[in-house]
Amino acid sequence: MLSSFLKMIFGSKSDRDIKKMRPLIEKINQIELEYQKLTDDGLRGKTDEFKKRIADGATVADIMCEGFAAVKNACRRLCGRTITVCDHELVWDMIPYDVQIMGAISLHLGNISEMQTGEGKTLVATMPLYLNALTGKNCQLVTVNDYLAKRDSEWMGAVYKFLGLTVGCLQNDMHSTERKEQYACDITYGTNSEFGFDYLRDMGMANSLERMVQRDHYYAIIDEVDSILIDEARTPLIISGPVAVSTHQFDKLKPSIDTLFLKQNMLCSRMVQEARDLLAKPELSKDDEDEAIMKLLQVRMGMPTHKQLMHILEDGAILKKVDKLDGFVRSDNNRGMLQDVQSELFFTIEEKTHEADLTEKGRNEISPDDPEAFVLPDLINCLQDIEKDESLDEQGKAKTKLEFQENFAKKSEILQNLSQLLKAYCLFEKDVHYVVQGNKVLIVDEHTGRLMPGRRFSDGLHQALEAKENVEIERETQTLATITIQNYFRMYEKLAGMTGTAETEANEFHQIYKLDVIVIPTNRPCKRTDNNDCIYKTKREKFNAIVDEVEECYQKGQPVLLGTVSVEDSEILSRMLKRKKIPHNVLNAKNHESEAEIVARAGQKSAVTVATNMAGRGTDIKLGAGIASVGGLHVIGSARHDSRRIDRQLRGRCARQGDPGSSRFYVSLEDNLMRLFGSDRIVSIMERFGLEDGEELQHPWLNKSIETAQRRVEQHHFAIRKRTLEYDDVMNKQREVIYGLRKETLVTENPREIILDIVNDEITSRIAEASANKDEFNAKFLLDWLNQTFPIGFSSKDISPTDAAAPDTPTLHDRIMKKILKAYEEKEKVETTESLRWLEKTIILEAIDRLWQEHLHGMDHLRASIGLRAYAQKDPLIEYKHEAFKMFSELMQNVNQDIMTNMFRSATSLAAFEKLFSNMPTAMIHESLGQFGAPQEEIVDGAETNEIPASDIQITFKREIPRVGRNDQCPCGSGKKYKKCCGQ
Ligand code: ADP
Ligand code: MG
Repeated sequence: MLSSFLKMIFGSKSDRDIKKMRPLIEKINQIELEYQKLTDDGLRGKTDEFKKRIADGATVADIMCEGFAAVKNACRRLCGRTITVCDHELVWDMIPYDVQIMGAISLHLGNISEMQTGEGKTLVATMPLYLNALTGKNCQLVTVNDYLAKRDSEWMGAVYKFLGLTVGCLQNDMHSTERKEQYACDITYGTNSEFGFDYLRDMGMANSLERMVQRDHYYAIIDEVDSILIDEARTPLIISGPVAVSTHQFDKLKPSIDTLFLKQNMLCSRMVQEARDLLAKPELSKDDEDEAIMKLLQVRMGMPTHKQLMHILEDGAILKKVDKLDGFVRSDNNRGMLQDVQSELFFTIEEKTHEADLTEKGRNEISPDDPEAFVLPDLINCLQDIEKDESLDEQGKAKTKLEFQENFAKKSEILQNLSQLLKAYCLFEKDVHYVVQGNKVLIVDEHTGRLMPGRRFSDGLHQALEAKENVEIERETQTLATITIQNYFRMYEKLAGMTGTAETEANEFHQIYKLDVIVIPTNRPCKRTDNNDCIYKTKREKFNAIVDEVEECYQKGQPVLLGTVSVEDSEILSRMLKRKKIPHNVLNAKNHESEAEIVARAGQKSAVTVATNMAGRGTDIKLGAGIASVGGLHVIGSARHDSRRIDRQLRGRCARQGDPGSSRFYVSLEDNLMRLFGSDRIVSIMERFGLEDGEELQHPWLNKSIETAQRRVEQHHFAIRKRTLEYDDVMNKQREVIYGLRKETLVTENPREIILDIVNDEITSRIAEASANKDEFNAKFLLDWLNQTFPIGFSSKDISPTDAAAPDTPTLHDRIMKKILKAYEEKEKVETTESLRWLEKTIILEAIDRLWQEHLHGMDHLRASIGLRAYAQKDPLIEYKHEAFKMFSELMQNVNQDIMTNMFRSATSLAAFEKLFSNMPTAMIHESLGQFGAPQEEIVDGAETNEIPASDIQITFKREIPRVGRNDQCPCGSGKKYKKCCGQ
């Protein structure tokens, strides 16, 4: 209230920002007027002039007005010219409007410009992209799909090219040389996953600078920014490969879950029936009613989507009572009560939080002989008990602990699998959340309704679904490289975004990305009529009403866009329309190839288009001739989406650029949103109005209540995203360290320095370790380590403590370093500088890559198991951070150790190796034999020469053949992918 009052007096922040822009717009238009006098070449010459001024110290801010004017003027000159966009010819007809220049200024300043659909955001982005690309750095535009990347880069390419800049576009099937060319352009268009995956490949996999494709993370504009930074940001980008050993138990557990599910289903049906009988009694006593409500609550805990249950709960009065009882049994004052209530069930399902758990009854059912098989012991207590066990010696304790931990890990895996199976059976519906096609389970994107081939649910859920559907359970995969979309885009020096719908999420944009939303006014006033929501008791009644409304519009020739929240709904509605003989197009997961074209035609006379909510996003719906006179495009929403933003997006598809248009949403009490987050208030309003079956209700109050429900879900989802991010922040810091070291290795001219720095540091810390006990220097420890790491014959005299009486003698540290350096110089003598530099880089990279991947595997497991440790009131995130830190310290130590161990054990050729050892004094080698040799990838043993009895030296030869990725072009020159050619 107060804030809207203040807004009225002072205007919102957006209004103030807009006001500040007015004089700038005037100035830009003034300059553009001047530019009209130039020749084409004269205008083009401006680009070089700007670049030179920037090179001489001017900032992009100094040049903004002139730069934008140049773009506007180029657009003017392009008018009437034919350009080819995605194989279609198109006549250029755009000169930026003032509001578009406003949007451009806001983008240049690093904000999100909220501009309605059809306001021409594609053109808006050209101004800041041109301006910022004058720095010579690669500027990027992020689109929601490949098609738009191509279309927009070709379309807007006309402007960039006119002004003498280059533009590129990434497509999914490009290989790395082509990608590199696209990034070499001044401006690059592409989807967020192309940018993100290129980054992961560059930083985590490229083994030479030449193979890295990206240049800068300087300035990016994200189109449809809400879709990318909010919806897509829920799933991180992951590059994965199959794991070596698979340990899952899905196939073994499936039969038990089948039975359990069946039994629970029967149990619930019986309980619903009993409840119904009780409630139907002519003189319903309080006790009878309590009993009935209890039964309903139990069913809801055991099978929340049970059909008959949902039917009974349509009665608002009953729903309210069940909710109340639910709150009561869960309250802290009634400890133990929840367990009692659930004890009749075999398992429980939390629909809101997506949790599933076996009850004791369920455990007895599937494992009657050993119910404990599904109970996780208390890890810490058990370990402490072993520690205290006096019948065991140290070795015995260590062994018992190890066994215990292995057992624990096995059990938690089984439990985790089991819980995923329960979820798969109870919470995931075929054809809503996933479809089965060609022996595979494919995810259906919740927002667009598209299939997402190649993407898999994480943490074993996907395998659980495969088990449920009796299709082949695919091998588990392990993460090879991963980053969240949030953390990828946070790397940019400057980030901006544009969309029709950002305002409702302004808080999240600000908190996570430090992006402010500026609402840009429309070019012409918006003439859309938004009708009140229509509310029905059941889905069936709702759908009937929708089809009636579609028919009415169809009869009078008004085009309709009918948006649904799921593929299932769009199919039901399509069938209903078919029965009424209303011709229509359906855009959903199974039919999206010509999506853009169908959507573009959705504004023609009598067109009916059924689309999952965001299908065809990014394509503008233009009205056909005479459509304005029948009211323009009418948008119908078949349900309120979880998020207000998605509804606004759907509404925004009509009434563009001052056209007429209208919208209406339909809601039923059976909709998920209403069931899960809406109940109490709406139900009581409904009661007040006394809604009968088949009746419809409309009231502005109800719109508000529904929005409140949506706000609740939005907050819930934001909390989840924030949580994911908090977990990823841990990974992010680790990734920065590893990728930093990797990049330094690729860039450096002198990798030797990196290795010697590591040696230097490690020796310092080992000496410290050996001196930990002040009374006695642990010479054996130090000597053993030195000889295991550096096979250059350290002897006890090398590590005698420094004589305190002779302060001038070199320290122990320096003496050790000197010996290593001397040996390394020998090595340098036998290799060429070039090949040695390559070898050094390879040693570092291989150590990082192998161990980092192992580490990621470990982190995957940690993340999956950490939820199970949430006992003893510990915050799992803190536990996770703690463990992750420990694991990372170990990783870094292992990387260092690996690098040092390989310093003297790698050579580029056998000849070099032989030379090295023949140059060293034999004594040095003898002493160090037999102490090393963890077998490594390419092992060639026995470099037998007279001087060296080297039969047990194991040495790795690294050959200078660049690694070929499976999806890279085959080095044989066939033009095919490596995996399809020589790599088969
Ligand atoms: P948005 O991304 O904001 O929804 P688009 O960039 O797809 O909008 O543009 C919508 C339509 O508006 C396009 O057909 C485009 O040709 C047209 N348009 C954009 N800017 C102008 C302009 N300044 N003058 C004329 N037409 C324009
Ligand atoms: Mg657009």
